[in-house]
Amino acid sequence: MADFDHDILIAGAGLAGLIAAAALGRAGFGVALVDPDMSAPDAASDRADWRSTAFLQPSRGVLERAGLWDGIASEAAALGTMRIVDLDIQTGEVRASRDFVASDISDQPFGWNFPNWLLRRVFAEVVGAMANVTLLRGRRVEGVLTRDNAALVRLSDGTRATARLLIGADGRNSAVRQALGIGVHTKRFGQKALAFAVTHPKPHENISTEIHRTGGPFTLVPLPDQGGQHRSAVVWMERGPEAQRLGGLSDADFDDAMTARSGGIYGRLNVISPRGIWPIITQCAERLTARRSALIAEAAHVLPPIGAQGLNQSIADIAALLSHLDGPGADPGAPAVLAGYARDRRSEVHMRAVGISALNMASMADGPMATAARAAGLTLLHDVPPVRRGLMRMGLGVSQTRGTTSAER
Ligand SMILES: Cc1cc2nc3c(=O)[nH]c(=O)nc-3n(C[C@H](O)[C@H](O)[C@H](O)COP(=O)(O)OP(=O)(O)OC[C@H]3O[C@@H](n4cnc5c(N)ncnc54)[C@H](O)[C@@H]3O)c2cc1C
Repeated sequence: MADFDHDILIAGAGLAGLIAAAALGRAGFGVALVDPDMSAPDAASDRADWRSTAFLQPSRGVLERAGLWDGIASEAAALGTMRIVDLDIQTGEVRASRDFVASDISDQPFGWNFPNWLLRRVFAEVVGAMANVTLLRGRRVEGVLTRDNAALVRLSDGTRATARLLIGADGRNSAVRQALGIGVHTKRFGQKALAFAVTHPKPHENISTEIHRTGGPFTLVPLPDQGGQHRSAVVWMERGPEAQRLGGLSDADFDDAMTARSGGIYGRLNVISPRGIWPIITQCAERLTARRSALIAEAAHVLPPIGAQGLNQSIADIAALLSHLDGPGADPGAPAVLAGYARDRRSEVHMRAVGISALNMASMADGPMATAARAAGLTLLHDVPPVRRGLMRMGLGVSQTRGTTSAER
């Protein structure tokens, strides 16, 4: 008799856990997925997650191989251009604007954007129908003990399960990470993000627009038109008290405030969803692995929502782990697999965390010197073609020297 119940046990069925379950299930492993809350509230629900995810080019291949792309493809809003706009702090008028165009480096768009509530619903359906994925709903991982040959997991309903590999995909406060005794380095910005959807009179033309003034970026990411109306997902980052104040405004006052903050580029914005509010931190786990265990996604790294890096980096985690697995007969928690995974991901995660934190701090700046430097920096990064192209490739996770992507490895 085998001395484990599952090849792989994944704690957390957020988007990252669902993608990992689909990808590892497709690769032939017996997977158990544990989460206390596997509900997938749709657009009509107050609990719907109105954040959106722009899957960058390298992530698409991973989703296709995991059998997740077909179910969402018809809802995609392609991102052909990333526009960065710097507004004058005093007047609110556009001071500098630069377009980063995907066709400059590729015959594909930068990525494809989807509302998170839709992703969660479709991915949960696909994973729920997979014969080799067992859903352990309504319970959480409460304790972990690792041995050389398996991880032993204690669940909140008093049962136990064993697996050759335990994956912690249980979010930024990961119980798995804590049970393994892995610490975190956390940087707080005193900032929160409001995430919601809007309609607007002018079309977005598949341009994702990041508008800088103070407090952090205001980003409009295209959603497909619906009922003849142009729609975008918005992430609005501000210092904490200001974000709380904005979150409490009436819809009409909120529309006024965000239209002003957007510089009026799409005309009057009209909020059409609940406003979610998220604290902004950068956080990295001190280690990505322990005996028979790996951390992925927000259990391993949390980034400010700039440049669509968060979940795309999580998908790169999953791709890296897969690249070290030799097939269903192989031991998914073997020391060589875990060492390879940690080696591939450690420095990239760290580099992204440092880079995105720096961009966020530049975006929060509100002194005249700092904002002038920000506008000059934007011009420099855009107007020198090799720098511009290098930056775009780096944002996508494409290595110039190796010609590979972090999600393809
Ligand atoms: C405003 C905003 C906008 C963003 N935009 C983008 C974007 O455009 N592109 C992008 O790539 N990323 C983006 N991100 C990041 C992205 O949303 C997150 O990376 C992603 O949603 C987090 O997924 P996750 O599965 O790691 O964690 P979570 O969504 O937090 O899921 C963790 C799951 O674990 C479960 N859980 C908790 N404890 C336990 C336990 N003890 N046992 C078992 N299960 C447990 C929870 O119930 C939950 O379902 C954005 C983030 C924010 C805040």
